[in-house]
Amino acid sequence: MHKTHAKFEVHDARFAVAGDDHLECLFSDGRWTEGPVYVPSGKYLLFSDIPNDRVMRWDETDGSVSVFASPARYANGHTLDRQGRLISCEQGSRSVTRVEFDGSTTVVADRWKGLRLNSPNDAVVSKDGAVWFTDPPYGITSDYEGHRAEQEIDGCHVYRVDPSGEVARVADDFERPNGLAFSPDESVLYIADTRGGHLRRFDARDGSLSGGEVFAEVPAGNFDGLRVDVEGRVWAAAENVYCFDPDGSLLATLHVPQPAVSNLVFGGPKRNRLFVTATDSVYSILLNTNGAWSL
Ligand code: MG
Repeated sequence: MHKTHAKFEVHDARFAVAGDDHLECLFSDGRWTEGPVYVPSGKYLLFSDIPNDRVMRWDETDGSVSVFASPARYANGHTLDRQGRLISCEQGSRSVTRVEFDGSTTVVADRWKGLRLNSPNDAVVSKDGAVWFTDPPYGITSDYEGHRAEQEIDGCHVYRVDPSGEVARVADDFERPNGLAFSPDESVLYIADTRGGHLRRFDARDGSLSGGEVFAEVPAGNFDGLRVDVEGRVWAAAENVYCFDPDGSLLATLHVPQPAVSNLVFGGPKRNRLFVTATDSVYSILLNTNGAWSL
């Protein structure tokens, strides 16, 4: 395993959760890695390698990386629902899907009011079982990360799929909605707007969204995926990994030796290992904090 020095640039003395002094490089053979999810029951990490149309599996028990699915319908973001079932945002099929216990695949959402979705990017599941996802156009604007196609919907929005299957649009004023994650008590949903260059903060207490003020501007690069730790700190991917206090202050930058970071997820048996997908690679680092539920 290749190791590289982990450089935390601390901007605020409240940041006291730095961990290892090195980043472990777990994989470096992708084109554009994204969508990591740690599967506790299997002790493995799944992540997408979108332009290569495959999902990879890193085995925590022996460090090996193998192909989990290829082709993979250009899967991007992954998460687990509260039963541990895999939820995937598929840019190729322009849908959000779920793998059932018997291995079959169910379409969670592929349309809104009869119109095909653009290309779902990232998803999170709330404790009521609803699936929340973002729908930018990256999978239909070229053949690189999906299949070039006409956009049917009048923009790039955020949706909530009720456990009944009903798909509701919950935010319609984004340019390019991307990563999303709940605060530990699920009262707040943070959503990245990649083109807008900021993270937004919504009140999500009643199954809909209100508020939506800018929570943080991107320090460098483009915001993509994010996750929240047990203290409510927001860890977001852009040019590097950025850690924000719940009050919006930038606490620290974790420098990553790649041009861009796409996404991250907490994992490991104690949920204190941060997995980072960055350009063609995947890194991990042990931190002195633990991930909140949002997987
Ligand atoms: Mg993304």
